[in-house]
Amino acid sequence: MEQRSLGRTGVSVSVVGQGTWNIGDGFNSNRAGDGAAVEALRLGFDLGMNLIDTAEMYGAGHSEELVAQSLRDSTEPIFIATKVSPSHFEYDSVLRAASGSLRRLGVKQIDLYQLHWPNTRVPISETMRAMEKLVRDGSAKNIGVSNFSVEQMREAQASMSKETIVSNQVEYSLVDRQVENEIIPYCKKEDVTVIAYSPLAKGGITGGRGKPFEMLDEVAAGLKKTRSQIALSWLLHNASVIVIPKASNKEHVRENAAASEVLLSQDQYEKLSQAFA
Ligand code: NAP
Repeated sequence: MEQRSLGRTGVSVSVVGQGTWNIGDGFNSNRAGDGAAVEALRLGFDLGMNLIDTAEMYGAGHSEELVAQSLRDSTEPIFIATKVSPSHFEYDSVLRAASGSLRRLGVKQIDLYQLHWPNTRVPISETMRAMEKLVRDGSAKNIGVSNFSVEQMREAQASMSKETIVSNQVEYSLVDRQVENEIIPYCKKEDVTVIAYSPLAKGGITGGRGKPFEMLDEVAAGLKKTRSQIALSWLLHNASVIVIPKASNKEHVRENAAASEVLLSQDQYEKLSQAFA
């Protein structure tokens, strides 16, 4: 599995990681059970997907508990990314939220602690002060943001005294390319990793119809790969990007892991970019 450096940290993470929103038992009857979700995550680790993304918000903490279960007995070091909810952005709440995540995850340090969404009701300087304290205390290794605009990233960065924002986790797929306007160019310039969430458009890639999808099928057939694999490799063509598809189906896990080996030619990349423009 290809690895990329996270921001300027020099820490390498797999280009295909694993998302965990909506995993396990819960309110939604379509979810795979807890056991199946844990097994799928473990298969992902075995296939080299060593970055896992979760959040205190996912399943009200249940997703973090399932991540902890999946990590049990793991011999490989796994890079854990989780997120603090916007409702916990006051100084003390950030610290409490981090303690809760550490407990549920069963680890001493969160590798990447991310602000889940901006919250304009709490001064960003207060939140970032708490994030820096977590790094000083060793509870968090790196600080990231999610769903932040360029302006919000600048403000968050400017209000820190020592640490650097290493990543922005944003929605990015062939069918949702809003981040290409400002966020991607900024992240490239500043060496901030773009973590693409919903990279398969929550199933929209496999289910899509129409001209752009005909082009996707043509490229996929030419390379003997699936639509999902081409959609992920199209995102990974950009060296600033890594992807975190969620898969509870083991066949999907295998496909996604193998997507890291699919290399699109510049011509294929551009054809797809134009088709989905
Ligand atoms: P996604 O990864 O784009 O799509 C997940 C869906 O695609 C699932 O239904 C999954 O089915 C299916 N799938 C996965 N691999 C497949 C394959 N190879 N072929 C066909 N179908 C496949 O959507 P997502 O869960 O919204 O996004 C991924 C992760 O990003 C989340 O889990 C979460 O960690 C993160 N996220 C973050 C935010 C944020 O605000 N920061 C927001 C949304 C998501 P099965 O499960 O049945 O395999």
